[in-house]
Amino acid sequence: EGPTGESTAVPTTIPHWYDPDSDALAITDGDGTTVVDETGTTYLDFVSQLYCVNAGHGNRTIIDGMTEQLEQIQYVSAAKRSPVRAALGERLVDLAPASLSHALFSVTGSEANELAVQLARNHTGASKVLTRWRSYHGSTYGAGSLTGDPETRNLVETHAATTGAAKFLPPMAHRSPFDAETPAELADAAADHLEFVIRNEGPDSIAAIMMEPVAGSSGAYTAPSGYFERVRELCDEYEILLIADEVITGFGRCGEWFGIETEGVEPDLLTFAKGVTSSYAPLAGVLARPELVADIEQEGFDLGQTFGGHPVSCAAGLAAIEAYDNGLIENARENAPALETGLAELASRTDVVADVRGRGYLRAVEFADPATGEPFYDPRVDDTDGDENADEPENPVPAVAAALEDRGVIVGTGRPATQLLLAPPLCATATEIETALTELEAAIDEVF
Ligand code: PMP
Repeated sequence: EGPTGESTAVPTTIPHWYDPDSDALAITDGDGTTVVDETGTTYLDFVSQLYCVNAGHGNRTIIDGMTEQLEQIQYVSAAKRSPVRAALGERLVDLAPASLSHALFSVTGSEANELAVQLARNHTGASKVLTRWRSYHGSTYGAGSLTGDPETRNLVETHAATTGAAKFLPPMAHRSPFDAETPAELADAAADHLEFVIRNEGPDSIAAIMMEPVAGSSGAYTAPSGYFERVRELCDEYEILLIADEVITGFGRCGEWFGIETEGVEPDLLTFAKGVTSSYAPLAGVLARPELVADIEQEGFDLGQTFGGHPVSCAAGLAAIEAYDNGLIENARENAPALETGLAELASRTDVVADVRGRGYLRAVEFADPATGEPFYDPRVDDTDGDENADEPENPVPAVAAALEDRGVIVGTGRPATQLLLAPPLCATATEIETALTELEAAIDEVF
């Protein structure tokens, strides 16, 4: 008999973050910022599982909202009207940037991104989509081919080289060679480079530019100030649609309802998932400008997914939004500075932290090799994903994350796993942040 919650019938789809050879925790219970494993040990969940349980575990408002809906009617197809679906669509449109007037529902973030691309292609008649190197847009054929994180790209290329088969569909995206982590002083240069890529590819061939306002699982990279304004200008000039992938950054994660608000621009399409229901039920979707939806209404697009806009998920969404509105976003806004300064202070006390960054309750910690002071991982060099390159110092992230988990704090590791990701539920208190940071420092001391 294997460990609780494990079965040979169910293969692992996300290898264990810290140690591929060890068992992941079996989580059986949760309350607010904490979860409990099968042995009764309590942990601070400082990654909201997959940056998605934004309202925390066991939220009564959400559970009650879902239960009421279940008792009323458990499912209504997209071919019929559903009051709860309409109500959530209207609430989302109210919260979204003003030009986004329509909500379309799917089930996962990957599908939402593919739906946004379908709408953009349909409207522009063009097919290419530009995305950033160091981005994550999903795991399906379409969304995977939009993704620009080095780990996925290496996998894609290795897979193609060894099997001759393409893992994803070319050429969904033409990844721009500028990084998510472009330094502030290079904002204009990066935008100039983007313009060069647009002109080189041919503006008429490009349907959309898709970007995360803060590149999430790639490592909490914020864009340099002014960068998104330039991207918006380029989109307007070359008649390209701007898609904001808010799958992680939406619903208070970065301090506002949507991450793009901080950048002072409005996208033409905005995709959401994860936090919309605080992950109490699967739900995702696209918020769109009216003309993009008018197209599909006229042309009789068939976008109906069986479980898109599932009524129980919509009830969870309405209740989660109520919870965010009733103090959770405010709490995260109030306490994010403690997380930011706490991490900065921790970094200043040690020479093994190369960088701390992020926004709101989405933060990354990157480590330096104490021998050289250089980051362990240079994303511009391909050859750094845990391979046999003897010159590379050993990546300390899995060991720090494992030591931290042993000390009662669960964190994530980025893509690739060369940085720690901290993304607590929005209910995380100043005290919980202090505890997590104290344990993080102890875990770092233990490993280095
Ligand atoms: N976009 C971003 C920014 C994401 O972080 C993710 C998931 N981590 C996705 C899209 C894909 O969402 P899903 O896993 O629900 O398909």
